[in-house]
Amino acid sequence: MSVVGIPILDNLYPVSMDLWPIEAKEFNKVWPFYENLKQGRFTTTKCKDCGHVAFPPRGVICPACYSENLEYIDLPKKGKVVVLTEEVKGVPLGYESPLIHAVIELDGGPIKRMISKIVNCPVGTLKRGDEVQLVVFEVPPMPIEKGKAGTIMMDRVFFAFEPVKK
Ligand SMILES: [Zn+2]
Repeated sequence: MSVVGIPILDNLYPVSMDLWPIEAKEFNKVWPFYENLKQGRFTTTKCKDCGHVAFPPRGVICPACYSENLEYIDLPKKGKVVVLTEEVKGVPLGYESPLIHAVIELDGGPIKRMISKIVNCPVGTLKRGDEVQLVVFEVPPMPIEKGKAGTIMMDRVFFAFEPVKK
């Protein structure tokens, strides 16, 4: 799968026009989520005090009891489509058509449903009830300042779901 940036803006507005999270631990409290993604793991945070599982992961405190005692747990990487949308015309700047999103019911686990982008999927082929699986893909690297090391390019990944081939 290809991921587009905004070619005419390349090297001009790398931060303000960036479509993806800054995943380095110096800038993002949920950096372990991205490190786990790079290893093919789909994870989120669980509170060690009250057991609450949040998605997206929380970087500082539990939204249920405000404890800072959090750990990362694995989520299922497969689920079923509950409902979906397909944008073909007029997708936002920087995105490729078609832009498909679905509410996904994960196969068990503490998080029942989530919304995700669907990739590797021709328009009109996805239906309610279809099985989808996690995909991890690379996104354009991010230049970050690393003290005396100067500016380095940090590899980044993001996730979506794709139809499971029958
Ligand atoms: Zn809690």
